[in-house]
Amino acid sequence: MTDCVFCRIVARKNPADIEFEDDAVLAFKDNYPKAPVHVLIVPKRHIPSVMAMERGDAEILGRCFLAARALGEAKGFAERGYRLRVNCGPEGGQVVYHVHVHFLAGGRASGA
Ligand code: AMP
Ligand code: ZN
Repeated sequence: MTDCVFCRIVARKNPADIEFEDDAVLAFKDNYPKAPVHVLIVPKRHIPSVMAMERGDAEILGRCFLAARALGEAKGFAERGYRLRVNCGPEGGQVVYHVHVHFLAGGRASGA
């Protein structure tokens, strides 16, 4: 089994509070929230980082943004808005090397 924590969540080997799922994407609550609503959106397929992204990964990352739209609508932020953040590499603050989109909502500027 992979030692990637987000692959383990996708495989239901690690616990997570799941907010959204489709065939390509899983979204679950961040366990150290930086905003009143903080959800991580991950592709089910392991892609380490935007810095490792290839042409064939474009669709699945687009699907992450469609999941963000669905979350925004489901959670009542379609009008109020939210912040989407992707950290890339060491100086970009990336800690987990399975690409993910932070969905931050519920406060002014929705987190740092
Ligand atoms: P990043 O700095 O962009 O790599 O963000 C990684 C995020 O994953 C952080 O906000 C962590 O709080 C979060 N995180 C790490 N492990 C877990 C986990 N097992 N369940 C939920 N969130 C996690
Ligand atoms: Zn992974």
